[in-house]
Amino acid sequence: MISIFPARIVAGFIGLSGSAFAFKAGPAAALSKRLIAVAGTAFASLMGFPVLAGADGPGPKPIDLHGKYLDCHAHTAGIGAKGSGCFISPKLRSSYKFPIYLKAFGVDEKELAQKGDSLLPNRISARLAESKTVGAAVLLALDGVVDSAGDMDTARTQIYLPDAFIAAETRKHGNLLFGASVNPRRKDALERLRRDKADGAVLVKWIPSIMDIDPADSANIPFYLAMKESGLPLLTHTGTENSFLGARDSLCDPFRLELPLNLGVTVIAAHVGTPGKSHGQENMERALIMTAKHANLYADISSLTQINKFGYLQKILPRKEVRGRLLYGTDFPLIETALVSPFYYTWRAPFSKLRAAARESNPWDRDVALKKALGVPEDVFTRSALLLLPPPK
Ligand SMILES: [Zn+2]
Repeated sequence: MISIFPARIVAGFIGLSGSAFAFKAGPAAALSKRLIAVAGTAFASLMGFPVLAGADGPGPKPIDLHGKYLDCHAHTAGIGAKGSGCFISPKLRSSYKFPIYLKAFGVDEKELAQKGDSLLPNRISARLAESKTVGAAVLLALDGVVDSAGDMDTARTQIYLPDAFIAAETRKHGNLLFGASVNPRRKDALERLRRDKADGAVLVKWIPSIMDIDPADSANIPFYLAMKESGLPLLTHTGTENSFLGARDSLCDPFRLELPLNLGVTVIAAHVGTPGKSHGQENMERALIMTAKHANLYADISSLTQINKFGYLQKILPRKEVRGRLLYGTDFPLIETALVSPFYYTWRAPFSKLRAAARESNPWDRDVALKKALGVPEDVFTRSALLLLPPPK
């Protein structure tokens, strides 16, 4: 294990990012980044926003990966059974997609209603414990849409997985880490962030197109400054979203991440911008332009083996813009659906390796075997732990 913590190093050097790291930004860009950061801090204190100083709780729980990998991107679901507080809109619940998700988790709706939403994290943890290659996963909360008064807008929310539920579930299982989710439009967003940090969150997750968040909105500046201070990275969906029933895809254009990046937040662009286009350009290319420009931007390779993203992974891997920046993630449970099969890659990788991957019964082992067959190098698999976990003492 390398005893460095890139998130902290990046955060520490962020004031220098324009000159020291970003290979395309000149002195003018560096200066404007500094100005934005200074202006943002002044704005936050002027507005009386609390900063997170002194909010450091115990932070992430100690975790032993037993030499295995960390999956930075895994989902659970919930219907609110046994008072979990989870919510799925009636429309999403009655769509054809919902039973597919539940099947991927290995449960049905009746069983979930009877046993409660904790059933899913229990099953996820148990299956993960059987993996030979992946030692832990970040389980993601998902905040809802927030109205102009700063409260959750249930009518416009498709899915809600509260921080309190995910924090409690991940505390129970040694191989699950808490991925928090806070919509910055909430009136108590900073307080929520503070609590999540104290509860051991390792990152904050957004799906802007579903949660109705514009990452480029200057109203988010106090939240970004608090995130930078907390050291929590922002894992945010980039690219077109297909898993829900309607999404404002323009909000997931990687170029909209300029503001948090300039303010020094460590950002992880989920799915490297795939798929789809913004302003006529592939979102993937736009994500690569942004990683070249910002040393504090990472990207996860979750969902890149799905059939609807065919070919992207092998396009991305050789690109120098993402060298040292890709993180291993699965987007579980989607790796357990018909969207992914090693055999879709018959002409892209040695058949013996694909067959071996297909024979793996554990979803994480199958995912690792398939990604290795497709050429994902070792450093991508180990980077999630280096970025998200505290350095070993
Ligand atoms: Zn996801």
